[in-house]
Amino acid sequence: MGSYCAICGKMHRNWPPDLACQRPDAVWALATKERMKRSRENDDLCVLRPGKGAPRERHFMRGVLLIPILDGRRDWGIGTWVEVSKRNFEHYLEQYHADGRQLPRFPGKLANHIGSLGKTLGRRVEIQLAHGKRRPTFWFRSGARHALAVLQREGIRAKELHEVINTEAPWLLEG
Ligand SMILES: [Zn+2]
Repeated sequence: MGSYCAICGKMHRNWPPDLACQRPDAVWALATKERMKRSRENDDLCVLRPGKGAPRERHFMRGVLLIPILDGRRDWGIGTWVEVSKRNFEHYLEQYHADGRQLPRFPGKLANHIGSLGKTLGRRVEIQLAHGKRRPTFWFRSGARHALAVLQREGIRAKELHEVINTEAPWLLEG
């Protein structure tokens, strides 16, 4: 059961729906055969082996960017990927089943472009590991000034968020 949306009047199964980038953009960019050959992936982790024109191995991990909703009751989650160094990737694997909440954050770069949130690909984040089955969270540094960092720092209004979701993933708003 959903409820009628105060913004568009339609019924949404859940509001706000989190956005989910299923794989890093670098993986989507590969032709199927190439992807089968080079990519080792699941819903949390991805390693791209070197290939033609791509001399080095690349490491990705999935997590969540949280954006406060100014007139809402909870944060909005963007499920997205970051690229990390091999060392930090291995660190994540070692801590995979541990409680990572007290561990220091480590750096990564966003690996998805989310068009209506400005230029997001390659933006630097700090990664905070989580507890149990929860995915890591991604945080922009306090000095970051691009649109998405400002959004995470200052929050978004529900109406604005509705527009973003309607542009990025309208099917999430179907009843
Ligand atoms: Zn609506």
